Amino acid sequence: SRVLITGANGYIAMWIIRTLLEQGYSVRGVVRSLEKATKLKQHFSSYGDKLELIIIEDMMKASARYDGAFDDAVKDVDAIEHTASPVTLSAVEPDDYIKPALQGTLSVLKSALHFGKKVKRIVITSSSAAIHRVITQPTHIFDETQWGDEAIEIVQEKGRDAPPMMKYKASKTLAEKAAWDFYNQHKNEVQWDLVVLHPPFVLGPSLQEVKTPESLNVSLEIFYNMLTQPNKSDEELKATYNFVDVRDVSKAHVEVLKNEKAAGERIILANGASTWQDTRNYIHSLRPDLYASGVLPRGNSDLDNPVLYIYNPEKGKKLLGLEYISKNEMIGDLLADFEARG
Ligand code: NDP
Repeated sequence: SRVLITGANGYIAMWIIRTLLEQGYSVRGVVRSLEKATKLKQHFSSYGDKLELIIIEDMMKASARYDGAFDDAVKDVDAIEHTASPVTLSAVEPDDYIKPALQGTLSVLKSALHFGKKVKRIVITSSSAAIHRVITQPTHIFDETQWGDEAIEIVQEKGRDAPPMMKYKASKTLAEKAAWDFYNQHKNEVQWDLVVLHPPFVLGPSLQEVKTPESLNVSLEIFYNMLTQPNKSDEELKATYNFVDVRDVSKAHVEVLKNEKAAGERIILANGASTWQDTRNYIHSLRPDLYASGVLPRGNSDLDNPVLYIYNPEKGKKLLGLEYISKNEMIGDLLADFEARG
């Protein structure tokens, strides 16, 4: 069967495409430029015609003839994986985050409503950001019943002065809410259902062409900076994050296509929690050489830095039978990937 994937050149999407192709699916990827299409085609050249790439420059713009930007793209596909969304912390206006996230998601759904005659399932890559709220005391457990409304309120209140992470969280929350609203309004008219996946911080090796740390995708860039920058404050080093390996995220995106029971579910994909200082301590235990030689700064190894929150992955494990890659393997492979790229 054939799967449409948006944001095909992204860090997570490239792994999803690889997993789909390995499992014999045909893939139609959407990118924003010919240059990106050409690169991607080259990367997956061994799969020949199994990967088709199409260019949609602006996923918010309906075409002159049709309703949504994806009206042609959704034809003849059996499933859709919608991953495209602004993943950045450098934009200023809330709408730079929210508009593409929200309109892009609605564009996909509108096109699927009118033209996705064969579509059985739409999978949206949301984020733990659409669940999270600020936690100050250990230890809160997030699950799929919770929502990122706090970020929406903060962005409404502070506008462009809200922290970039809040704007990103608001964009993911608003996009997901709009998706469920749209689905609930139209579910009697469509033969597809909706599943939404929620990874926290995604780590692990990249298939993207990355020549400098600045060209890493945002989660890898933050990880890289938190490990390599010597001037991090205790406050920053104490921050909690939850993680999942990109290869598990891609596997889940493919497993979910085969699983009837996942219909209508929000599903967390998470494999553990840490703080940045803990991560430094952990890598120190794996690779003391990197610290002895001064390549990586040690930070404050005595810091009291309890994990403040975790994402409960039990629902996804049960539904999708996921067995997660160990933290040891994830960090080891990521370090090897960084080292291989210099
Ligand atoms: P990347 O930045 O590597 O990929 C993002 C993709 O979205 C790119 O293909 C990008 O296209 C596309 N995109 C961004 N803005 C637009 C826009 N305005 N119009 C059309 N396409 C756009 O990020 P990731 O692979 O990390 O993220 C993929 C998805 O996973 C996102 O939805 C993100 O929110 C979600 N996610 C990521 C996490 C992480 O830790 N990485 C954690 C949780 C969720 P282009 O290259 O042309 O800009």
